[in-house]
Amino acid sequence: MAANCIFCKIIKGDIPSMKLFESEKTLAFLDINPLSYGHALIIPKHHGAKLHEIPPEHLTELLPVASRIASALGCENYNILQNNGRLAHQEVDHVHFHVIPKPNETEGLGIGWPQQ
Ligand code: 5GP
Repeated sequence: MAANCIFCKIIKGDIPSMKLFESEKTLAFLDINPLSYGHALIIPKHHGAKLHEIPPEHLTELLPVASRIASALGCENYNILQNNGRLAHQEVDHVHFHVIPKPNETEGLGIGWPQQ
């Protein structure tokens, strides 16, 4: 845990989040500023800013959880995104994978997809 890390505070419950999945090593929750409906973040509970700083055993669930979230949303079109460093547009220095559904492809699924 890192004292000043927003995502560590979310893991501890000091900052609220809309949780989608939680295990011993992994947490998934909705992005506070979603790029599309269902935009989710999947993080290892082990703190590290960049992917190569995280021990591999703490990374194993991240993509399977991303896959499960995409399935649960019923979306056929989505991006998985993972930024490392400011030049790569990383804002929060705790490793995270984004699941970003693509809205037009999910219309008609009855989950209240907003027009964008
Ligand atoms: P990055 O640019 O680092 O890859 O993405 C960071 C993401 O974290 C952004 O999409 C941003 O909206 C999200 N984020 C930042 N602070 C919070 C927060 O306090 N709660 C939640 N749920 N998401 C956050």
